[in-house]
Amino acid sequence: MTISTSACAVCGGNDWLELPPPHSDRSVRSDGAVLGHPMRKAQCSACALVQAMSLADTEALTILYTDEYDLYNSRPSSEQFVTGRYTALAQAIASSIAPYRPSRVLEVGCGNGSALKAVQSLWPDAFCIGVEPVVTAVKAAQAAGINVHQGMIGGVLPPAIARETYDVIYSIHVIEHTEDPAAFLRGLKALLSPHGRLIITCPNARAPNLEIVRSDHQYSMTPYHLGALTRKAGLIPLRSTLCPGGGEDLDYEHNQLLVACLPDKSDHVAAQMPLPGYLQEANRLQLLGARCKYFHDFSTLDATLQARLDGHKRLVCFGTGGWASILAGYAPGVWERVQACVIDGGSDGAFFGKRILAYDALKEMNPDGVIVGVNPATQPMIAQRLEQAGYPTIRWDDLIAM
Ligand SMILES: [Zn+2]
Repeated sequence: MTISTSACAVCGGNDWLELPPPHSDRSVRSDGAVLGHPMRKAQCSACALVQAMSLADTEALTILYTDEYDLYNSRPSSEQFVTGRYTALAQAIASSIAPYRPSRVLEVGCGNGSALKAVQSLWPDAFCIGVEPVVTAVKAAQAAGINVHQGMIGGVLPPAIARETYDVIYSIHVIEHTEDPAAFLRGLKALLSPHGRLIITCPNARAPNLEIVRSDHQYSMTPYHLGALTRKAGLIPLRSTLCPGGGEDLDYEHNQLLVACLPDKSDHVAAQMPLPGYLQEANRLQLLGARCKYFHDFSTLDATLQARLDGHKRLVCFGTGGWASILAGYAPGVWERVQACVIDGGSDGAFFGKRILAYDALKEMNPDGVIVGVNPATQPMIAQRLEQAGYPTIRWDDLIAM
């Protein structure tokens, strides 16, 4: 269906191809929160950017990211995963500009400072500072002795950040959440020192993947789109690579990193670049088909997976990560039947209304089915382990494209 919404943030086009919502009355945010309204996104027919049909504006985003968003506190036993992820990201950031060694570094949207801490250890002589809107994350960073201040680009920036410039500014998986990505990049540009480097990471939308069903991702960008937005902001893209993402396996394939710099006075920054081969018309239509199928897979997940449950009385979900929250959000009928969640290690907390048990407690519970609530790519491995321990498993990696 062709619908009209605001103009495409990349090409300015106004011809939109709507994607079917993954659920008719709910959606899931990237921090795992389940929202009581459907997600509506569309693909630009001219350049294949995916954009939310109604964009949350800066005021709404300020409220969301100051008080509500809870990526940094909601995941039980996530420390190990977070440490591995941010170490990999810090290395990707440092090596993207090696052998350059900055003296002043700013992270924008730094969360609880995990990446900033890892970056500081790679560049021990650099002055490192971060800015983050989420109040609880800022407090956690400060309590850990990390130099983080509360604020956001496009909103109010604390003086400690705004009065200086930086020779490296980086931002990890933030741009896809913004109201206007080119304006966000202009905000970063204003803080960049003359020979500085700007490094942006975000999901890579060349193939549909989990990020596209996150309702707070207002944009899904291929490397072309990120480069075009960078030029639109008056910056010169220098390098584009894959990079670690948010999955347990770091998921390089579905995440991208871009390095940019300020133009020399003589440089002319062309705002529009020709579309690459992978976004020529036939490929845009192919991508549209793949995206529609991906959303459709989510819309049928609940019913299909329920059909796999066969009178189960003691059903357990293995996992409390991003994919388990996808189950809770997009397969509510299945989730209702889950008695508890189980994870390696242990926790006495709860996850979407379900008790969290340590793996060792499974024996006592004697489940008649364990839903493998992890990344489809790792479901076969986890299922094999559970089956070998004598627990019957329910997988769904055949239902969601990888
Ligand atoms: Zn477009």
